[in-house]
Amino acid sequence: MSKNKKIFGLIGYPLGHTLSPNMHNAGFKALGIDVDCEYTTFSKSPDELKSFLLSEEGKNVSGFNVTVPYKEKILELITNLKQHETVEAIGAANTIIKTETGYKAYNTDVCGFAQDLNLKGFNKEGKKAAILGAGGAARAVAYALSCFADTPVREITIYDIDNAKAESIAKMIKNVKNEFNIKVVDSIADLEIKKSDILINATPIGLKKSDPLIVDENLLHKDLFVYDLIYNPAETKLLKAAKKAQASCSNGLGMLLYQGEAAFAKFAGVCPVPENVVESMKTALKEGLKNV
Ligand code: NAP
Repeated sequence: MSKNKKIFGLIGYPLGHTLSPNMHNAGFKALGIDVDCEYTTFSKSPDELKSFLLSEEGKNVSGFNVTVPYKEKILELITNLKQHETVEAIGAANTIIKTETGYKAYNTDVCGFAQDLNLKGFNKEGKKAAILGAGGAARAVAYALSCFADTPVREITIYDIDNAKAESIAKMIKNVKNEFNIKVVDSIADLEIKKSDILINATPIGLKKSDPLIVDENLLHKDLFVYDLIYNPAETKLLKAAKKAQASCSNGLGMLLYQGEAAFAKFAGVCPVPENVVESMKTALKEGLKNV
């Protein structure tokens, strides 16, 4: 390894197959910067993580992405950490950058989702949104729809099998925007999908071939935008049913790309990231998906 090499990487546990190294290494290559940069993976168990972060190897890492199960925990484990306001609001980060004085935490899932939705032509202003699932990704989605930028949706209904998680998202949004209309419901039927403009699947249901269709297909309609955060498979049962109902739809590949682009901008210190670099990152993702 050259002495000036900068190391970046993804922390998580267990880390299955991930496309982040493909995407970021393609970005560094396309950027053609003088500094030698490499993006790798750090699969660290809860017992290993703290000592890793304090080790020479950990301290030498210039920037991390963070995934399940550490998006919240990482904020306690890194000392001398400043939080971007989005991280402060959501309580979870997916990008940590080493600075001259310590570290800074960002949540690029928020802008990644918002940017993709925008590029797909969905104008969220005044719309009614229904969210399935209330885990880490749903926190970012709910924030993006209600508090990020100046064109929020009108209302959000949210359902999770664990009601307390959905309540926690509602509390988080109310803390930022007390007047915002967010309702936790007890069943998918109560999500009011028929009256909604957008339905977001932020559960893992659809990742496996054997997974059921998560909603009754009769609830889907042509005026609905169905956004499934899952990108592999590219077309889940939910997206198939949405197409059949003539709804507009999108998988989560764009969100993955744009959260990656926003993190890459911090890693490489370039903003905006040049278009050809983003294109290379996108191609690397698509190529990587063929081999999963
Ligand atoms: P997570 O923290 O595990 O959250 C998923 C939530 O969905 C959990 O609260 C889970 O409850 C709940 N759930 C499971 N089955 C459900 C059902 N049938 N109905 C309602 N709620 C249900 O996972 P995550 O990190 O938020 O990720 C969620 C999905 O988004 C995953 O598929 C992930 O791959 C995808 N994702 C995509 C991107 C992207 O860039 N495209 C980024 C992040 C995540 P339990 O915990 O009780 O099971």
